[in-house]
Amino acid sequence: MDSLDTLKLLSSQMSFEADGEPRSSSAAPVCYSPKETDQAFVHPAQLPNGRKILLLKTLLSSACERDCFYCPFRAGRDFHRATFNPDEFAGLFSKLNQSGAAEGVFLSSGLAGGGVRTQDKLLDTAELLRKKHQFKGYLHLKIMPGAEKDQVYRAMQLADRVSVNLEAPNSERLAKLAPHKIFIEELLQPLKWIEEIRRTVPAHKFWNGRWPSTVTQFVAGGSDESDLELLTTTNWLNKNVRLKRVYFSAFHPIRDTPFENKPSVDPMREHRLYQASFLLRDYGFDVEDLPFTNASNLPLNADPKQAWAQKYLTNKPIEINKAEKRELIRIPGIGLKGADAILNARRSSKLRDLSALKKLGVIAERAAPYLLFNGRKAPAQLMLL
Ligand code: SF4
Repeated sequence: MDSLDTLKLLSSQMSFEADGEPRSSSAAPVCYSPKETDQAFVHPAQLPNGRKILLLKTLLSSACERDCFYCPFRAGRDFHRATFNPDEFAGLFSKLNQSGAAEGVFLSSGLAGGGVRTQDKLLDTAELLRKKHQFKGYLHLKIMPGAEKDQVYRAMQLADRVSVNLEAPNSERLAKLAPHKIFIEELLQPLKWIEEIRRTVPAHKFWNGRWPSTVTQFVAGGSDESDLELLTTTNWLNKNVRLKRVYFSAFHPIRDTPFENKPSVDPMREHRLYQASFLLRDYGFDVEDLPFTNASNLPLNADPKQAWAQKYLTNKPIEINKAEKRELIRIPGIGLKGADAILNARRSSKLRDLSALKKLGVIAERAAPYLLFNGRKAPAQLMLL
């Protein structure tokens, strides 16, 4: 197998990892067929600054010595494995980058010889890309379970994004998914180191003068955890280690793993978790504000912001011409930009009806039941705008 075939194999095996837009039916990673381009698999992805690029997501090696119950790469599973050495991968990616086939790279790996050794190979690859091949584009590096603090620091000096997949919301749940991963020491600790380094080391020491962003991923439904558990941990992470975002990947069984007969998780659960996590991160919501069922899950049939508004705003609508930003963004149909536009427009004149809101980019019909215009509800016929 030549290097390009190895890359096609490893990158196709990596399709379950998230970077950029959350996965959903409308934002699923699009693979460019090798038949069309004769190139490796790349995925459109949105960078933290909003720019869209062609991202190569790949493993340095699909060999792994661990046996996580849900994972296609677990030790002993019979499939075609492949491994790059750092020099081989860096040279190949550099050619793809120069030809325009891939503008950025997300590099992970199965574990072989322990987390420290595997992390060293990822770091060597990143250093070759940056120094030998002068790669200036987007680089997302995975931090391996058990990596050491100086390795985390080196990764932060080279990458635009670093990630540690927690997989489950706490130690007890992780034990059901990945019996040999240690939640606190191996997974949470590197996230704490990243934040500590961010706080104590000047940003100019990093490769492009900025700190890399940090993300994590949970297997939603993999350990029978509740949404309340996932979102409580998400909220803690947002506040304490400043994650750029949390990814949720709805559990899907893989053949020849201990979980092969476990049912798939409804992708709508993944969608509701994303909606709730954005409310926690950007909209001033707390976990207690979210509309959990008796089983501590989000209802699949209701947008969590809408459900909150129905409960708290139906009988206590918000005066659009007086509300502060923190109140406006709690109204369904009004996002962060819409709230800014409302505040801006209010400086010159009062907002009189739903059509004025619509011109400001608000989803007026969604917001209407929860609003007052100078003390009066929006006329019913205008709600059909
Ligand atoms: S350590 Fe990573 S690659 Fe290996 S089995 Fe677990 S999740 Fe899969």
